[in-house]
Amino acid sequence: MATKLRAIKADITKLQVDVIVDAANSKLLGGGGVDGAIHSAAGPELLEACRALGGCAAGNAKLTKGFLLPAKHVVHAVGPVWQGGKQNEPELLATCYRRALELATLVDAKTIAFPCISTGVYGYPVNQAARIAVAQVRAYVSENGELEEVVFCCFSDKDLAVYEALL
Ligand code: ADP
Repeated sequence: MATKLRAIKADITKLQVDVIVDAANSKLLGGGGVDGAIHSAAGPELLEACRALGGCAAGNAKLTKGFLLPAKHVVHAVGPVWQGGKQNEPELLATCYRRALELATLVDAKTIAFPCISTGVYGYPVNQAARIAVAQVRAYVSENGELEEVVFCCFSDKDLAVYEALL
């Protein structure tokens, strides 16, 4: 069965999915934005689990349980900081999505939700980031049949409109 891709406007911490993806920073010790929201909703055990991971480079991702979240697992994905687009940002953002999908497959996830990685404090232009996100997900699900649904969880109407146009 083909994987369903859809965009919604929601708080990612509330989603009943197998995996939610966190737009984390490389220390993996919590932060603002979606990262802060995920840590507060998951409870202090998430930070303890993250401490044991020893950080994560931009373009990569690491996995923990979801603790108090409705989601079973959290993929902590570290996107690139936007520096104008010539510092490998597109490739790093792409591998970040790819890695998150691979980790979700590793824990037999059927459903996964992504926030708009790097487009908040990290400053990545939403149009460009969304195009990479959708392209990576489409490429992955065309080769890997396990996921039933991939959700692009937007936090604003503007971001939602960008994703809806692409899907
Ligand atoms: P980054 O540092 O990767 O840019 P941010 O957390 O600053 O990460 O922003 C990434 C995206 O997550 C932004 O679009 C922001 O509006 C969105 N966001 C913030 N809080 C939430 C939340 N609770 N659920 C879903 N998305 C959120």
